[in-house]
Amino acid sequence: AKWVYTFGDGKAEGAADMRDLLGGKGANLAEMSSLGLPVPPGFTITTEVCTWYYANGQAYPDDLKGQVDEALSHVGRLVGRGFGDADNPLLVSVRSGARASMPGMMDTVLNLGLNDVTVEALAARAGDRRFAYDSYRRFIQMYSNVVLGLDHHNFEDILEIYKETNGHELDTDLSSQDWQEIVRQYKTRVEEELGEPFPQDPSAQLWGAIGAVFGSWRNQRANTYRRLHNIPESWGTAVNVQAMVFGNMGETSATGVAFTRNPSTGENSLYGEFLVNAQGEDVVAGIRTPQDLTEAARVAAGSSKSSLESLMPESFAEFNRICGILETHYRDMQDLEFTIEQGKLWMLQTRAGKRTAKAALRVAVEMAEEGLVTPEEAVRRIDPAALDQLLHPTIAPNAERNAIARGLPASPGAAQGEIVFDADTAEKMRADGHAVILVRVETSPEDIHGMHAAEGILTTRGGMTSHAAVVARGMGKPCVSGAGMIRVDYARGTMVAGGTTLRKGDVITIDGATGEVLLGKVPMQQPELSGEFASLMKFADGTRRMKVRANAETPADARTAREFGAEGIGLCRTEHMFFEEGRIVAVREMILADAESGRRAALAKILPMQRQDFRELFEIMAGLPVTIRLLDPPLHEFLPHEEEDLAEVAASIGADIEKLRARVQDMHEFNPMLGHRGCRLGITYPEIYEMQARAIFEAAIEAADKTGSPVTPEIMVPLVATREELDVLKQRIVAVAEAVNREKGTAIEYQIGTMIELPRAALRAAEIAETAEFFSFGTNDLTQTTFGISRDDSARFLAEYVEKGLLPVDPFVTLDRDGVGELVRTAAERGRSTRPGIKLGICGEHGGDPDSIAFCETIGLDYVSCSPYRVPIARLAAAQAAL
Ligand code: PEP
Ligand code: MG
Repeated sequence: AKWVYTFGDGKAEGAADMRDLLGGKGANLAEMSSLGLPVPPGFTITTEVCTWYYANGQAYPDDLKGQVDEALSHVGRLVGRGFGDADNPLLVSVRSGARASMPGMMDTVLNLGLNDVTVEALAARAGDRRFAYDSYRRFIQMYSNVVLGLDHHNFEDILEIYKETNGHELDTDLSSQDWQEIVRQYKTRVEEELGEPFPQDPSAQLWGAIGAVFGSWRNQRANTYRRLHNIPESWGTAVNVQAMVFGNMGETSATGVAFTRNPSTGENSLYGEFLVNAQGEDVVAGIRTPQDLTEAARVAAGSSKSSLESLMPESFAEFNRICGILETHYRDMQDLEFTIEQGKLWMLQTRAGKRTAKAALRVAVEMAEEGLVTPEEAVRRIDPAALDQLLHPTIAPNAERNAIARGLPASPGAAQGEIVFDADTAEKMRADGHAVILVRVETSPEDIHGMHAAEGILTTRGGMTSHAAVVARGMGKPCVSGAGMIRVDYARGTMVAGGTTLRKGDVITIDGATGEVLLGKVPMQQPELSGEFASLMKFADGTRRMKVRANAETPADARTAREFGAEGIGLCRTEHMFFEEGRIVAVREMILADAESGRRAALAKILPMQRQDFRELFEIMAGLPVTIRLLDPPLHEFLPHEEEDLAEVAASIGADIEKLRARVQDMHEFNPMLGHRGCRLGITYPEIYEMQARAIFEAAIEAADKTGSPVTPEIMVPLVATREELDVLKQRIVAVAEAVNREKGTAIEYQIGTMIELPRAALRAAEIAETAEFFSFGTNDLTQTTFGISRDDSARFLAEYVEKGLLPVDPFVTLDRDGVGELVRTAAERGRSTRPGIKLGICGEHGGDPDSIAFCETIGLDYVSCSPYRVPIARLAAAQAAL
């Protein structure tokens, strides 16, 4: 078998697309070599050898040694030196290189091939004894550590003591004699510690280093890193053996790292650092402060140390030229390592550079504009989830994070302010100019005004689709939910997290992207939506098939949704409108009325307000589709709980307060989520849905008159389980439409559809589609009812399920394709079998989740609908799904 691939001198046996076999580093060294770039010759021992090594009790294939020897001779011929040659020795570096980059996790040995004889030859060739012995002592320390397992402190102690007793302060104060003496002491120490002398045979050194690199694939660091980054152990690492070039051969030598574009801003200018007279590890070690590559960067940083551009103009120009070649060749921003040995530039590594979300966006868009990549490729390169970072304020990257608790990352962005424990106080303090964080055990629709007033929301109970999470996402406000380790005591006005007790007015910061709760005011950074953002969205819109709508009910949300590019409203939760200023009393009157006539009287008060709401929505959406869902939550959610609220309602309808109290108690439900809610309300109190339908039709007529664009409302019935439920309600709605048409002399167009959010509805979709003109998948309730896991109580145990690997992710965040997804797919197919072309959408929280959006594309939904702030993410994710 072929185990070894050589490169060098403008040729290579490998190529960039062989990274599985050669590892990332080896594949790119081969590629650079084939491109004719100056790469020190070398060879790569394949990842298959690593696999073989572990499968065979850490032994090598028989024919490996011959192939390595041959490759070494080949490299020696190319550089005109011999491995172990006493006059002109070939020295090599030995480095790991896996398929995926695992920075710093595995081992490296430099200057290999040095011994008591070759060090003299190196000194003579370089004309520099100090350099030769400095290299030798580095080699002994590195090799002894990596291969022989001796701790670094052995060598550090010797060096420290030597410097102290001889009155030296810096390494640079040491002469060649000093280093020679230190080498002697190092070797003695190795022999004392191991009972054997430091290996002098270069071949033994080489096999020792190769074994150490393969061995390091399974060291603890590497194992942990792989687990964190989902890198399979079976991949193995390759080993790269390469002729040494020296950046520490005096003042005309240097070593450095660079990015072809700025990795934090994405700006198209070379960015990097270097050190004169140094070896690679010195740059990373941070002992000396590196210098800027370009003159512009030096000036910008106000540094007095020369740039590479001014210090070594020819090498710099050559390097700059190579950066251009590599970027064009790889069509991506590159992360490079280079060394200059006595004025000659050598390339040691190239790979795609890691970058911030902001830089990723700018690089992708500018490369598309430069014609280096297609718009589709630019779309493919941006992680939709990373857009969150760009759309919300975040905690500054270098800020110290003093986390006192952790909950679910329910709505992205960071927020800070004084803690308050109830919505009214939040509103009051906000009015007085304070920034506040609303802290609740959980929130309910009654807290909406407080949520509006707060910078962010923290709850101790509730999952990713709990009220707090859904509403906060809708408002674009940061939220941490289900932080179960925090105890909130409303009576005392305290929250306790671990050992910390906080009171109303104490300041915290929440990070809705990580779920952290931090003490005090942590430095933040504001998002800036650049022109690149708009360009990327344009590319995405040109690529996607599915439409993107928003879940919105207030005019403000609807406007935000349009600004972010929503193409309609996919879910207007009408109950949210019931809590607006001045309405709740009328709503309570309606609920507490004990006869239909009383309800109708109260509904008559609500009608004009709802009509006004809908009219505004239709006007803002200007002809775009708007799906309005009829009342969904259990009525008791609207009931007065405080004594004063009860008194207010009693006074308003002239009823006896005791009677009212009894009625409130009557409405208590053990399991309201599965109780008297959704279309069941419409069945038992049809006048509520009739009022809402009338408000919708009248608003549509008024809005069409005003804007001149026709409005076709989509009326949606929630929580349908049977076709019969929908039949009954549809008849009622149609009757209202006919009545309105008669009164106004119009012929309004509308559609009546349903949410599919119960398993029975999904299974019976074929017959439901005989009545329903569209479906919208309510995957929040569908997940809840399919798993039988309460949306509001899941936070207490779901995290443990994920930690233990029982579930891959929280199914309320990312759609469970296997279970819930099968119901969605089935319903889509069955719905279409009855009504080909039936309009299908999704309006559960999954409509804003990239992985779930990809699933929606596979089953051919017409649109996804999500909170306004996630609309850009959904546009991008829908585009990627279509590619
Ligand atoms: C759903 O259940 O997915 C849905 C969108 O409705 P809600 O979250 O209002 O129950
Ligand atoms: Mg629902």
